[in-house]
Amino acid sequence: MTGDDAGGTAVGTPVGRLVADGPTVSFEFFPPRTEEAAATLRRTIVDLAPLDPSFVSVTYGAGGSTRELTHRLVVDLLADGINPVAHLTAVDHTLDELRSIVAGYTAAGVRNVLALRGDAPAGVDEPVRALEHAVDLVHLVRTVAPADTSVGVAAHPEGHPAATSLADDRRHLAAKLEAADYAVTQFFFAADDYLRLVDDLAALGCTKPVLPGIMPVTNLAQIERFAALSGATFPAWLAERLHAVADDPAAVRAVGVEVATELCATLMDAGAPGLHFYTLNRSTATREVATNLGLAERPDA
Ligand SMILES: Cc1cc2nc3c(=O)[nH]c(=O)nc-3n(C[C@H](O)[C@H](O)[C@H](O)COP(=O)(O)OP(=O)(O)OC[C@H]3O[C@@H](n4cnc5c(N)ncnc54)[C@H](O)[C@@H]3O)c2cc1C
Repeated sequence: MTGDDAGGTAVGTPVGRLVADGPTVSFEFFPPRTEEAAATLRRTIVDLAPLDPSFVSVTYGAGGSTRELTHRLVVDLLADGINPVAHLTAVDHTLDELRSIVAGYTAAGVRNVLALRGDAPAGVDEPVRALEHAVDLVHLVRTVAPADTSVGVAAHPEGHPAATSLADDRRHLAAKLEAADYAVTQFFFAADDYLRLVDDLAALGCTKPVLPGIMPVTNLAQIERFAALSGATFPAWLAERLHAVADDPAAVRAVGVEVATELCATLMDAGAPGLHFYTLNRSTATREVATNLGLAERPDA
């Protein structure tokens, strides 16, 4: 990770511009809620620094975490010379709240927002829905933030789990992405799912960059839970390989790293504009995949 003075990615650089010059490498973090978790994340950031990420993104309110923590982590990252993307979900916010959050980021020098609809927070049956869909939040960010702000959106290669149909979901995604600068996908395990998504979007006239989201498997029970929650298919061949070594955590990780490496290599060969790693605030698996891919020795890193 580099700041302006180090000659690498300038802090606050809009991701749309970075992706256009790609390929990019980026990481997703979530805001830590305890001192111990904060220390783990600090170590992770240091461990991943040699990969010189184009940006790191910080989740918002996912899993019931306190929303102010996202703002704090984003601003801290910026102060540390790291280019942050602030996730923002529309659900359970009024328009004034959303405008004020975006204005707060702008004032802090943040030029990157990932605009999401979000899901109803746990225990909230009837959340405020001032904006119905993520595309509405993209437009709101555009009206509040400076013109050089990059707005990203979420894409679901296998379709959003609540979509009326895959075709409808693709049409909504194409319209959303046209209003935005780039998309980041939900994690997936079959390169074809990503390639089909990109082809479907192109057929709808949308060629904006779509960054594949990569989740190296490090824990079998956890990945099965995440896949069920996100609607991502957990393929039988992968389940079989992982279940065969389920009693050996090191072997599970090794399979996860190998599979993620192969997936990334296929995606890069197919022209993906970058790789976005779901780190779960840990560095080892991501670092191993990046090393296998030769990204640790990027000439500009
Ligand atoms: C990369 C990534 C990062 C994420 N980060 C977070 C996070 O930080 N915090 C968090 O809480 N959640 C996060 N999520 C989860 C996300 O909030 C959920 O997947 C949510 O259910 C949908 O969000 P969306 O932005 O894709 O919504 P939308 O784009 O609004 O889509 C939601 C549904 O509405 C449909 N739809 C869209 N537009 C229209 C329209 N105009 N008319 C009719 N139907 C429409 C879509 O087909 C889809 O079924 C993330 C997901 C991804 C892929």
